[in-house]
Amino acid sequence: MNEHYPFVNPPLPYAYDALEPCIDALTMCLHHDRHLQTYVNNLNATLKDCPDLQDWPLEKLICNADCLKKDVQKSIRNNGGGVYNHIFYFNGMSDSDTRCKAGKLHDALVKEFGCVEAFYHEFEEKAMSVFGSGYAWLTVDQNGKLKIITTANQDTPIVQNLCPVLTIDVWEHAYYLKHYNERIAYIYNWFQVVDWECANMHYLECLKCRN
Ligand code: MN
Repeated sequence: MNEHYPFVNPPLPYAYDALEPCIDALTMCLHHDRHLQTYVNNLNATLKDCPDLQDWPLEKLICNADCLKKDVQKSIRNNGGGVYNHIFYFNGMSDSDTRCKAGKLHDALVKEFGCVEAFYHEFEEKAMSVFGSGYAWLTVDQNGKLKIITTANQDTPIVQNLCPVLTIDVWEHAYYLKHYNERIAYIYNWFQVVDWECANMHYLECLKCRN
């Protein structure tokens, strides 16, 4: 993730059409080049006038936003969150089959939910429950336990002291071109392109921070 201001939009770790047919190239292109780019631009525009915040990493800005001036606070929550969430989402997908690379996360999912299928159904239910725009997340809580949560708009789990493992963006712009209003079909297709190796890496990092 970007170190500090001026933040940049990192290129996708795969081609725009790499996730076809699950997620279409035009959606990926607009989502990355326009939506995420706008969050990056708006965040930088806010920080341009805040020299004391320009060496703060993104996570520090997000977690301490409440202590800042109201307008800066609001922009960091929305735009900083938008940058953080999108990079996490894009990096969490892959065009290669990573299902057998879930490692310790696989064992933890089985322990917590019974089987990966049961995890998927609970995750799907949570992702469907987001009214309007937001995200569903698999996180690790303060006790090192896996927990599925949702966040509204561009809110992040890190402000709740939850460590993110996996996320799905359920804003309509993430799926409307291909799936129209059928969020459930998009959730199913997203699940086919989850990067389990990356999710497991996050899971192991989360556990390290908890111990
Ligand atoms: Mn989005």
